[in-house]
Amino acid sequence: EEDLAHRDPEIFAAIRQELGRQRDEIELIASENIVSSAVLEAQGSVLTNKYAEGYPGRRYYGGCQFVDIAEELAIQRAKALFDCDFANVQPNSGSQANQGVFLALLQPGDTILGMSLDAGGHLTHGARPNQSGRWFNAVQYGVRKQDSQLDYDQVETLAKEHRPKAIIAGGSAIPRIIDFARLRQIADQVGAYLIVDMAHFAGLVATGLYPSPFPHAHVATTTTHKTLRGPRGGMILTSDADIAKKVNSAIFPGLQGGPLMHVIAAKAVAFGEALRPEFKDYSKQVVTNAQALADELMKGGLDIVTGGTDTHLMLVDLRPKGVKGNDTETALGRAHITCNKNGIPFDPEKPTVTSGIRLGSPAGTTRGFGEEEFRQIGRWIVQIVDGLAANGPESNTETEARVADEVKALCALFPLYHGI
Ligand code: PLP
Repeated sequence: EEDLAHRDPEIFAAIRQELGRQRDEIELIASENIVSSAVLEAQGSVLTNKYAEGYPGRRYYGGCQFVDIAEELAIQRAKALFDCDFANVQPNSGSQANQGVFLALLQPGDTILGMSLDAGGHLTHGARPNQSGRWFNAVQYGVRKQDSQLDYDQVETLAKEHRPKAIIAGGSAIPRIIDFARLRQIADQVGAYLIVDMAHFAGLVATGLYPSPFPHAHVATTTTHKTLRGPRGGMILTSDADIAKKVNSAIFPGLQGGPLMHVIAAKAVAFGEALRPEFKDYSKQVVTNAQALADELMKGGLDIVTGGTDTHLMLVDLRPKGVKGNDTETALGRAHITCNKNGIPFDPEKPTVTSGIRLGSPAGTTRGFGEEEFRQIGRWIVQIVDGLAANGPESNTETEARVADEVKALCALFPLYHGI
């Protein structure tokens, strides 16, 4: 049999180049992480060959005895991690986990109340162009003008006015801890389900560094590839037996066909890793590192939305330096620091420009960076931004080239994926 390098040199080269990029760049995209070699191995396994429509012990195909073991382990470990009675580990992504819950609990045309994208919510929480915004009557809440914190009073007012069938909490750019008890209280007043999408902070919940959505949430969804450090995928959790039944039918046969058994095996491996005590140390370091980075950026004259972070991520308000999110993302990229431009609450700029960048610590922390390295990263970011402010996007090359060299030198001290 030909190996990949010989069978398909173009794809082989693209994969090697991507590995090189991951090795040589500091990854600050808050939604990304770096999986273990064991997770990679499970995901690259022969389980990709297997059709297994249905659930363990209740499949529509023969030969499922071994993939059943993998899925059972994923389910048992997920329930242990999040202290709940039910897990569906089949959603192919975080978006499909949310779609699965909507299909389980809602009808087209129902009213949902979720956080708006510009305030830090996710597309699947009712944004206009998304299915959730097109097939439901989506009402959106945001954050308070004065402190950029989730506006619970607005949630309550909108809930009473629109009587949503579901309230969705969570998002992609929320640096602070969400008060689930308060949201459940509001949901109960109007008879709504509370759905918590903990995609971003699931790893922190699993390690007790962020309050659990349970018992407040009727159901929780998550991705498995962010702070949880597993393969790309989704999951749905609940302790309500009736919702559990509906969720299973919604995912299969409602929404998906054959589950990705290789990914489910990789989820099981990642959940096993997350159950170990080292993962708690890792998660603590994730938060410490994010706070150190935020502190260093503030010292350098940048604003952090809400004045800091309780989690793995922060939103940097670039306006004190007079530079834009898109230019900053590109300039940092040239210096081998990877992040994404991100609107800040009430951003005066278009989403393609933005006044902010979003930064996160999960990937760098996996790599082994501690507080000291994250403070150094903060100083580099300030140097790039100051250079951008002084020289403009076109002629900041000297600072960017110097930082790129320093970044590569740091990366070389924290190697990734030995032996591949
Ligand atoms: N929910 C939240 C809060 C997210 O941040 C994301 C991903 O960015 C998703 C859902 C969607 O996950 P996926 O990209 O796997 O569809």
